[in-house]
Parts: sequence; C-alpha cells; structure tokens
Amino acid sequence: MKKNILLGAHVSISKGFDKAIEEGEKIGCTAIQIFTKSNRSWFAKKISDEEIENFKESLKNSQIKSVVAHASYLINLGSSKKEIEKKSIKSLETELERCEKLGIPILVLHPGAHLNQGEEKCIKQIAKNLDSILKKYSKTKIALETTAGQGTNVGYKFEQIKKIRSLCKQKNKIGACIDTCHIFSAGYNISTPESYKKTIKNFIKIIGLRNLKAIHLNDSKTDFGSRKDRHANIGKGKIPKKTFELIMNDKHFSKIPKILETPIKSEYPKEIKLLRKMVK
Ligand SMILES: [Zn+2]
Ligand SMILES: [Zn+2]
Repeated sequence: MKKNILLGAHVSISKGFDKAIEEGEKIGCTAIQIFTKSNRSWFAKKISDEEIENFKESLKNSQIKSVVAHASYLINLGSSKKEIEKKSIKSLETELERCEKLGIPILVLHPGAHLNQGEEKCIKQIAKNLDSILKKYSKTKIALETTAGQGTNVGYKFEQIKKIRSLCKQKNKIGACIDTCHIFSAGYNISTPESYKKTIKNFIKIIGLRNLKAIHLNDSKTDFGSRKDRHANIGKGKIPKKTFELIMNDKHFSKIPKILETPIKSEYPKEIKLLRKMVK
C-alpha cells in the first residue's frame, strides 16, 4: 500500500525534538531517524518533561508513523581500551534512557570496532556488554547496523550480527538494521535482481526477518566490496537505482522504516519523492 510506506530521512534535533518532527513532515517523511543528543558527545543534559511532552504531542498530530534513534558514533562496546569500553557502556545506557523517555522503540547501534584485539574477542565483548546493559531496559530495542567493514569494524558479515545476538541472553531485545551502502561495500551484491534476491534471502536465513528493525537507504560513493563507508545520494553512486526500486517494492520490508542518510540533505525531498514514486 503506497500510503502506508514508512519512508523518510535522518533529521536534526538541534532546534528541539518537536522541531525534528516538523522538519520530517516538511520534507515528506512518514518515518524519521534522530540522534537523541549530539552524536559527537558521550553524554548530554537531561531531557525535560516539557521537551518529552512536546515531542510526543507533535508526533501524535503528525504524518510520522515511525521514529527510530541512532546512537552516538563514539560508542564502541568492543574497544580494547578499557576506558573507552566503560564510557561506551555508560553512554549507551544514557541513549537507551533517552529513547525510553521519548517513547522511541528502536535504537540503531554500530556493533563496534576491535582496534587490535581481533574480531572474535571483540564480538564476545560486545555481546557481554549488551547483555548486562539490556537487562535494565525493556521498552527500547537495539538494532545492530550492518557495517561496511571499514577499519576494524565488525558487523560486515551477517554471521557476526547473528553471533552477537546468539551470545546474548537478552537476544529478544536485539535486532538488526540493514544499510544498503554498507552491505554493498562489505561485498554483498545487490546490483541485479538475482543478486539482490540472493542477498536478502541470505539475510533472512542468517538473521531472520522478524529481527530486521530498520533499513538505511544510502547509495555508495565507493565500489562494490570496497569496505569503505561513503554514502552517496540515491542514483549518484555505485548502486543501481533499480536496486532501490526492488527494496521499495519488497514485500518483506513493507512494515520496516526506510531512512535516508545521504550526504546532501537538501536533496531529501526529491529523493523521498523519487523513492515513493518507485512503489508500484
Ligand atoms: Zn546507516
Ligand atoms: Zn554509513
């Protein structure tokens, strides 16, 4: 159903949480993603009751049917540096608290980077930390984002996300987020209808459709398998436009929020229109 599509973009909270809703509406979103605080800081001042109320009220009266949050880029639960690991745990707890207060059901998180300690150890550490953190939260779920595998990032293979989940007792509070740019860069072919189908089938087999919580719609500036995380606007990168048409019409994803994180934000209204038009 064309009118029920959950489609939108990452919008700014710099002018207030309620203003993010307004911005989303203005550019044609039915779904939005926000940072609940600056993405470049570990912590933030508390959200006031008034801010929460205004946000919930604006959301209720808007065309936005889905809100997901994205955690700070600084957080690395798999860091080999103890200081960073500790700070990451505290910071993620802050993020989950903020999401629960705002009533946001999904928090997208980059799994982590191993730096020099190896992927295996990193994955176990992420799982251990997620398990102890998630014990304290029951409303907001974590969606581990598939990564491009840049640097020492883990999460560039579906099996790694599965591994983190399967090591957690709290696995029902952990889902996944597919980023089209990242999986393409990580070496999952999505350039033809056949390869797209195969990749999605693979995701469903390994991670499971019910665990998919969000999709990031980004084109890729760099080549297939480049292991680089460089987003491009839709149709301006190396992923065929046709692939986005396949996603927009994929029955598996009809209830999944689809979010643009493309670099030129003034293009959002045009991109949203384009993607909406692709739906048959
Ligand atoms: Zn993303
Ligand atoms: Zn990215």
